[in-house]
Amino acid sequence: MPGQSHERELELPEELNGLSLRRQRLTDRRNVLALLIDFKQHNCQNEEQYYRETAELQEIDKQLQALSQRKIQLQMEQDQIGGTHNILIDTSVSSPIIVESPPSFPAPQIILDVQELPRHPSQTQCPYCHEYITTEVTKITSSTSCLMCFIFIMFGCVAGCCLIPFCLDNCKDIVHKCPKCRSHIFTCKKL
Ligand SMILES: [Zn+2]
Repeated sequence: MPGQSHERELELPEELNGLSLRRQRLTDRRNVLALLIDFKQHNCQNEEQYYRETAELQEIDKQLQALSQRKIQLQMEQDQIGGTHNILIDTSVSSPIIVESPPSFPAPQIILDVQELPRHPSQTQCPYCHEYITTEVTKITSSTSCLMCFIFIMFGCVAGCCLIPFCLDNCKDIVHKCPKCRSHIFTCKKL
């Protein structure tokens, strides 16, 4: 009966623990009694109590013996269950291998060629401190913005419209910096 033996397997350590605890208590009590009896043998005043304690001591001895026997029995049983349990494992059907599907998002790509860094924070190896980092990006006014502004002025947009290119992110240069050593890594130029 595998179910029963499994239950027994769970019960056994608990029972053994309880048994050890009981044995410990009995042994303690026995030691106290033995001391008392020894003491009273020398100065015996209350005979009745002396006999009662001696009887208790004998009773404890009996109980301890019984507990020892029970412990050996339990340990044997535990070994037996342990043995059959191992056999059960050996003969049991191997569990199916679960293959996890790959994550739906792409793995972060480390761009080793800094010349190919895109226009957003990217993972790369800093060429200066050689740490693997995610670059910090800042937008700076590019020559494209100046050129666009110039073209706008040429077409007569002088009432402020010529400044629009300076506000467009797409017209700006992107500067990649290392967050660790603060070195300038690469500038993505618009032109
Ligand atoms: Zn660096």
